Amino acid sequence: MASCDVCNVCDSPGTFAGASDVAPVACNVRAFANDTFTFWRCPNCRSLHCREDADLERYYRAYPVKSHVLDFWARAAYRNLLRRLARAGLAGGMSILDYGCGPGLLVRFLGEQGFSSVTGYDAHVAEFADRAALDGTYDCVIAQDVIEHADDTRGFLLDLLKVLKPGGMLAIGTPNAAGIDLARPETFSLSLHPPYHRHLLSEQALLDLASSVGLEPLARYRRFYYDTLWPTVNYRFLRAYVRRAGNVLDAAFEPPRVGLVLTSPLLWAHALLGYFYPPRSEMMVVFRRRPPESA
Ligand SMILES: [Zn+2]
Repeated sequence: MASCDVCNVCDSPGTFAGASDVAPVACNVRAFANDTFTFWRCPNCRSLHCREDADLERYYRAYPVKSHVLDFWARAAYRNLLRRLARAGLAGGMSILDYGCGPGLLVRFLGEQGFSSVTGYDAHVAEFADRAALDGTYDCVIAQDVIEHADDTRGFLLDLLKVLKPGGMLAIGTPNAAGIDLARPETFSLSLHPPYHRHLLSEQALLDLASSVGLEPLARYRRFYYDTLWPTVNYRFLRAYVRRAGNVLDAAFEPPRVGLVLTSPLLWAHALLGYFYPPRSEMMVVFRRRPPESA
């Protein structure tokens, strides 16, 4: 746990004292909605940092993501994520680690899709907290919505490398700080999400950091894997729905408020068409770890 006054992402780190892009941001989890934190942007790499320290164990005890279930919406989104991995070369028989797997929904989904060697690890979920999962190495490592939770971004990336085979595939999905406007923190509350999110990388900062540790990009996506053509299964809709449901993340994991959607022409429009105008605040980069001979 650490407060952050100096960028820990780039090689010419900017400081909080020298930052001009600064904003107070409220926690968007209902139990902690009165807690406010400061985000500031590194003038050099455009990454965003949560300035204040926090007792994260306390915050994770009431984390709404733990009640996520493998429903229609999750399956549609995971099919999308799997297509991205397949395009990058993921095939049956490969070993997969979902690092930061939460309640293990993607682990289950991949098992259902015929992948026989899928492991989940999550320090904050008892069922998946066994660090023995990190003793092995894998053909494919997935870290979806995880790197932004790490206090030490570079150290986290190095931890991922330890479990990735040479030539293996690493998929990092995370908010893109370059697509987040700090002047509108309520619009971007799902991406900012303090104090759980510690450091949000810009796309360039992620590419530079990854390159410095021997990762080369195979594919880049400037939209959330949650973006599909299925009605309501797109990030534009999700973000607007959550905002109208009190702007707390909890709403995304509670029973759907059908009345809220039916009475809002804007939510109708987003539900049907949101795929075509995605927010640019999310990204995924699929990397390949350079084999030793080309490192
Ligand atoms: Zn920086």
